[in-house]
Amino acid sequence: MDTTAVILGGGYAGVMAANRLAASGRSGLEVVLVTPGPRFVERIRLHEYTAGTRADATVDYGSVLHPGVHLVRDAAAGILPDMRTVRLAAGGDLAYDYLVYAVGSAAAAAPGGALRIEHLEGAAGARRELSALPAGGRVAVVGGGFTAVETAAETAGAFPHLSVALHSASDVARTLGIPARRALVKRLGKAGVQLHTGSSVATDGDVRRNLAADVVLWCAGFAVPQLAAKAGLAVDGSGRLCLEPTLQAQGRERIYGAGDAAVIAGPDYAYLRMCCAAALPMGADAAGNILRAVDGMPGVRHNSGFRGVCISLGRSDAVVQFLAADDSPARLHLHGRTAAVQKEIICRMTLRWIRGEAKRSGAYTWPTGPKVPTTTPAARSVHLME
Ligand SMILES: Cc1cc2nc3c(=O)[nH]c(=O)nc-3n(C[C@H](O)[C@H](O)[C@H](O)COP(=O)(O)OP(=O)(O)OC[C@H]3O[C@@H](n4cnc5c(N)ncnc54)[C@H](O)[C@@H]3O)c2cc1C
Repeated sequence: MDTTAVILGGGYAGVMAANRLAASGRSGLEVVLVTPGPRFVERIRLHEYTAGTRADATVDYGSVLHPGVHLVRDAAAGILPDMRTVRLAAGGDLAYDYLVYAVGSAAAAAPGGALRIEHLEGAAGARRELSALPAGGRVAVVGGGFTAVETAAETAGAFPHLSVALHSASDVARTLGIPARRALVKRLGKAGVQLHTGSSVATDGDVRRNLAADVVLWCAGFAVPQLAAKAGLAVDGSGRLCLEPTLQAQGRERIYGAGDAAVIAGPDYAYLRMCCAAALPMGADAAGNILRAVDGMPGVRHNSGFRGVCISLGRSDAVVQFLAADDSPARLHLHGRTAAVQKEIICRMTLRWIRGEAKRSGAYTWPTGPKVPTTTPAARSVHLME
């Protein structure tokens, strides 16, 4: 009997899932990937694209997807779980036997006058505005997470004639260990970034006026598409699809979730933050459990963890914080050129892992999670962009 697996979202999680399914060679398994963009976006490089240190942050879907994946260039406008159907934005319905919900995330709504860089169109607009600024132009980056830090440092490095400030209500990169954070703050200063912490940015009116800046890049907070909530699926307070440890949606055994748009419910998985490093294993495991279901076998609990986090500070500097599996900082960190090289290797590896999975289902492996389930403090689950 033929089985159709529909994947919503052609980002890291969705493409990994599509490849694991399609490369499995299961007879009668049709794999359909629904995604609106014409090309795969390397989101982890959007700060480079914004600052103009990278000409492009996209690659052709043909170069990352298994050739057997049927690509539908459209957005899902709705999910009808009882009918196992996805409604497409351009019109028409798609029936599924299994669904992978991997629609990612975006920065939270930005106040008037601010630009968002976490999606390609926003990054392209910000890039144009930055390039047009005259010498002495003032750029404010808002946010204290890794994306804000990377964006501020990249911009300062690429536009030495501009004045770049980073505004964060809290300490920046506060999930790092103290030595790594100290190194990061020092190196941000060396990169020419003025750091303003400890007070929230006023968001009434035009935020450029509030910050006395010509361009404001908004990298604070995050939001996810509300598709799951609208479909009546179990979601958390922000609208992320709530999953069982098998990555099945709570109460819906035919729907799986992966990446930023989904969250494994409960304290045991609170350490899994929204990041590419979690999206890829979740995408692979969601697909693996669909294959098990197709074969009549029970799904396995998701098991992934961290080894390190790399924060770029321009093209020749970075901080690498080594991590325990539960995302808590280990004692060791690296900085300087060696760390920058390490970061670049990881960025390249993400595409290599996805492409490897297109060649052989099961090729991608990842670090395991904590041995003993942790009830990690909520502070650890802060999003990269916070
Ligand atoms: C500048 C920047 C730097 C980052 N650096 C790092 C880093 O160094 N390390 C790290 O681990 N993480 C990093 N991240 C975070 C990382 O990019 C995300 O966590 C990751 O992209 C999540 O993968 P995903 O597949 O869930 O979502 P995405 O990669 O966002 O993909 C989601 C896909 O779903 C599609 N989609 C959206 N709505 C619909 C719909 N209705 N129907 C169909 N498709 C839809 C989108 O078009 C997109 O293709 C960074 C993020 C940014 C913005």
